Amino acid sequence: MLINGKWLDASTAASFAVTNPANGDVIAEVVDGGRTEAVAAVDAAEAAFPAWAGKTAFERADVLRRAYDLMVERKEHLAVTMTSEQGKPLRAARVECQYAADFLLWFSEEAKRVYGDILPSPRANQRFMVLRQPIGVVGAITPWNYPVSMLTRKLAPALAAGCTMVLKPAEATPLCAIETFKILQEAGLPDGVLNLVTAADPAPIGEVFVTDPRVRKITFTGSTAVGKRLAAGAGEHMKRISLELGGHAPFIVCEDADPVHAAKGAAAVKFLNTGQACISPNRIFVHRDAIEPFTGELVKRVARLRAGNGLEEGIAIGPLVNGKAVDKVERQVNDAVDKGAALLQGGQRLLDDGLDKGTFFAPTVLSDITDSMLIYREETFGPVAAIVPYDDDDDVIAMANDTNYGLAAYVYTNELARAMRMFEALKFGIIGVNDINPTAAAAPFGGVKDSGLGREGGREGIDEYLDVKLGGFAV
Ligand code: ADP
Repeated sequence: MLINGKWLDASTAASFAVTNPANGDVIAEVVDGGRTEAVAAVDAAEAAFPAWAGKTAFERADVLRRAYDLMVERKEHLAVTMTSEQGKPLRAARVECQYAADFLLWFSEEAKRVYGDILPSPRANQRFMVLRQPIGVVGAITPWNYPVSMLTRKLAPALAAGCTMVLKPAEATPLCAIETFKILQEAGLPDGVLNLVTAADPAPIGEVFVTDPRVRKITFTGSTAVGKRLAAGAGEHMKRISLELGGHAPFIVCEDADPVHAAKGAAAVKFLNTGQACISPNRIFVHRDAIEPFTGELVKRVARLRAGNGLEEGIAIGPLVNGKAVDKVERQVNDAVDKGAALLQGGQRLLDDGLDKGTFFAPTVLSDITDSMLIYREETFGPVAAIVPYDDDDDVIAMANDTNYGLAAYVYTNELARAMRMFEALKFGIIGVNDINPTAAAAPFGGVKDSGLGREGGREGIDEYLDVKLGGFAV
């Protein structure tokens, strides 16, 4: 835990264990913070705010730029830490570390582009000036699935804008947060600007963020249920909030698309991070004419995916985060099969070759999914490709939009007009057209409906941490 520039370690306070989900080993003990630590961290962030906001944008940019360099330098160490506590294959962990570093670089540049406006006035003796100023202390809560990039996507724009922050990482992945904060501290961040509160029970920390009047903004990535609770609290206390919540991405393979190419894309994006991503395809809509070639290629590729400890060579599928996650995936698969889905690949927990010590589920392909099945509506967050046949563009657009979520959607087509129609008609914040990775630090990420509020990354990302102030000057 880092409060006001001082590290508190587990030898001097109550602690909780961090385990490796690939084998259940305890890999570290981390300080267990509560209300007292959260309040102390807000004290520090509040005290540090005027001086940090008062620095020039160029000075703030320098710190972020140094942090970028350090993160790239330490990528291997950070990636090994990530694989050990989160489970994703080492190669994927390296990719995430670079993505995380990209936010530091991008927002070190955006810091220098927080422009204002001079507006024409209807009165000859009046001048208007618009300033964008940092909001103040930010409370951030982050998830375990992308345990470094979800931190930098919040802290980099906040720091660039001139805000200070208290961050509470997910209880499953505090080690990645600790390593990230060491980097920011070494990059020259003044004491108190960025504070880290690790905790086994998140609720009291969230409560401080909601109720302490000094916290002016809450930013959260996680489940829709918790996000709504925080949003209700933020509403009561009239705080700014941004939310990146769940998703239920449709992946549409049109009749004109190359089904084999689309299946390659589906195999790659669906099983990334073992399906534990809010932009993971949850319903794969395939035109009935393309079902056979698509399914054949997908099953062939999924059958080759090896599950295991991500530190080993050749592993493509890591463990799920915990036993509860495995139970949920198993429940969705059993429910679908009971209601008539065809099980084409996988479908069970993985228990052989020592995998029973971890929390593994086989990469799975189900076809003939219908809207009566749990998986059609519930976010899976696991390695299950669920195929739904369709016949017509209007039907598939209606089915794709028939969800409370609205984060990402994917479309495979080679027809320009169809691509444009789908892009416009799909009610999601991010649309990948023949593109399974429509994300980057330079692009706005975020959803509509139950998937959240606000955008992270891109030109828009820094606005979440700025208030607009108007000056009217009579002359
Ligand atoms: P998941 O079910 O995917 O773990 P959560 O929404 O529970 O998603 O977790 C995302 C983040 O939200 C984590 O940092 C977690 O500790 C935090 N969190 C969970 N419950 C609460 C709560 N009541 N108040 C504040 N933060 C919470």
